[in-house]
Amino acid sequence: MKTIIEPFRIKVVEPIRLTTADQREQFIREAHFNLFAIRAESVLIDLLTDSGTSAMSSEQWAGIMRGDESYAGAESFFRLQDRVREVTGFEHFLPTHQGRASERILFDVVCGPGKVVPNNNHFDTTRANVEHTGAEAVDLVIDEGHDLQSQHPFKGNLDIDKLSDLIERVGVERIPFCMVTITNNSGGGQPVSMGNLREVRDVCHRHGLPFFLDACRFAENAYFIKKREPGMGDRSIQSIVHETFELADGATISAKKDGLVNIGGLLLLRDEKLLEQARNSLILTEGFPTYGGLAGRDLEALAQGLDEVLDEQYLAYRIRSTEYLGERLVSAGIPILEPPGGHAIYLDAKRFCPHIPQEQFPGQALAVGLYRVAGIRAVEIGSVMFGGEGRTVDAELVRLAIPRRVYTQSHIDYVIEAIVELHQRRDGLRGLRIVEEPPMLRHFTAKFEEI
Ligand SMILES: *Cc1c(COP(=O)(O)O)cnc(C)c1O
Repeated sequence: MKTIIEPFRIKVVEPIRLTTADQREQFIREAHFNLFAIRAESVLIDLLTDSGTSAMSSEQWAGIMRGDESYAGAESFFRLQDRVREVTGFEHFLPTHQGRASERILFDVVCGPGKVVPNNNHFDTTRANVEHTGAEAVDLVIDEGHDLQSQHPFKGNLDIDKLSDLIERVGVERIPFCMVTITNNSGGGQPVSMGNLREVRDVCHRHGLPFFLDACRFAENAYFIKKREPGMGDRSIQSIVHETFELADGATISAKKDGLVNIGGLLLLRDEKLLEQARNSLILTEGFPTYGGLAGRDLEALAQGLDEVLDEQYLAYRIRSTEYLGERLVSAGIPILEPPGGHAIYLDAKRFCPHIPQEQFPGQALAVGLYRVAGIRAVEIGSVMFGGEGRTVDAELVRLAIPRRVYTQSHIDYVIEAIVELHQRRDGLRGLRIVEEPPMLRHFTAKFEEI
């Protein structure tokens, strides 16, 4: 059989609402052309993010009922602990309410003014949390990672020479640790190879530096390693995941991705002293260490999710459905970031609508066009998100993030048709100007008008 089917059947359904073009015109104007300001019920297919948007399984919902809500020492915590140990090999972990809480706790303890933190690409909350402590966040992804067309199989790899240069330039005492993000979200959901992870670990340990993972999509990364890295094809996903974590001294994880839950995070640590400090910080703002900002039921759902995400049939479906969207767009002549990443497809807005100058936000214009034509919500990742004060950035992208286990192939076919249709009418897309914006993270609340 050639077709890779959704490896589940649907037990509960949630209606989605078809709107008319006139209604959508009204909604987008009321939202001042900012898709974050549109109510979710007015969106037909929501590709804003893959974070916290997964559909849970019947076993996860059963876990929700089983959740032990005791303040301290809940059974649900111990079930999660067993699962975390089994999946990652880490003896110690702290549950947190989501990824950025893990980041805040870890970075508060080890970063600070004058420090420098290398990563392949910092995710935006990771960068913000590093910088919040006064430290500097440095991105060291390989050059191919910046090239939208490069077909490198592991475009998320960290450049070892750039890392060595950084260590030499700023001095090892200013670097609290080195981090690698798997898969590389800010770099298009591109994977990092096991070979690269081993090399980074070696360089770190040669200099006495701890090596941390930002491991939100650890299972998707492991699947890419199995499929693409020579010598890894016969390994089980579990063993690749295990080796990945074995290389690291710690990890921050947003469970809203490969944890297959709607809320949750993890902080994994080996160093007992660091763990002690992190635990104290956790108690201050998140909660007691056996629940860490979550309800007992959330811990149950996560324990189950960490098991289901390692299922190779699930991962084959997951990665293939993203790739399917990418392949079909490429064969229709639509410019995208290649090759397709694990969790999202990125439209290249500069090439999609070359008539719109960067100062007029081609990515935002494209995202608005996609909502108008088909009620699909995507997000601009370009000069609206990362520019400011007249500054534009290199890549003007529109991200179509795929929620896990939520949409079927016919939904994705509809998305493809909509984008092809919009591409045929691309000359009608109009640039935008910002009429109101907050001092930071402007993409969430900025107001636009059409030019
Ligand atoms: C989502 C994400 C985070 C932050 O996690 P939240 O759960 O949204 O706080 C950090 N790093 C990466 C790579 C992510 O994708």
